[in-house]
Amino acid sequence: MFTGHVRRSGSLRSVWHRRERKRRPAHELPLPPPPAVRLRPLPTELHWLCGCPSTMLRCVVRLATDPRTVFHLTPPDVERKLRLYYCACARTRWDAPSDDARHAVATVECRADGGTDREGWVRARRFAHAALQAVTRVWWAPEEQRPTVFLDALVAAAVRAHRGLGDRFAPPVYLVNTADQVALLNEVFGNPFAPVAVRSAWATRTVVDLSQLIATDRAFELMPVLGDALQDAGCDSAAVLDHCYRPAAHARGCWLLDALLGDG
Ligand SMILES: [Zn+2]
Repeated sequence: MFTGHVRRSGSLRSVWHRRERKRRPAHELPLPPPPAVRLRPLPTELHWLCGCPSTMLRCVVRLATDPRTVFHLTPPDVERKLRLYYCACARTRWDAPSDDARHAVATVECRADGGTDREGWVRARRFAHAALQAVTRVWWAPEEQRPTVFLDALVAAAVRAHRGLGDRFAPPVYLVNTADQVALLNEVFGNPFAPVAVRSAWATRTVVDLSQLIATDRAFELMPVLGDALQDAGCDSAAVLDHCYRPAAHARGCWLLDALLGDG
């Protein structure tokens, strides 16, 4: 039965303060306790192993930016690897991107390795700006044009990764197979919770030259040869040798090549 009592909104604490305010003058009121600081839980290895690319991406970004973590990659390293990851995703659908998108991918990859093609970079940024405007209108575009627009936006993400790891823009990576995305994230970042130690003694002149050649020319078929060179240099790490000899696809930003070349 309705008794006419209307419950006022607010927590017990605010109700108590309202009552106290009526009883006592303002200067006698005790200071309210400071609000409890809620710290977001840190990502764990389970997040990395969950098989969801967006969770894995958030995981590396949090590890690189949260002041409570100690991570072997710096924020600029992670930005560079994110660019290369998006480029590698675009390369899995290399039949669909426009010519400008292909040029942007080549420019981003070259720049990630220290290239200074300023004119090409300006062109890539202009392309990224146009691609991001196009993706907002994609649902009004003819259906057959949508994959191209989405892939262009994916490439735009590679160009714009420098905008900061806090960028909320979520590129439409869903055009790329989820298993491929997970494999590429593992290829580029390794396991961030269990980074493989690469000893400087293994980076002989042969190993470094070979690594440079593979990275620059995308000559990933030479990875087993690199494995042989590493063994000659005394490498006995099962994780390193397995990465060289396994038949899976490699990409620019490969964690092993980066570690041997000192790129992060
Ligand atoms: Zn690799």
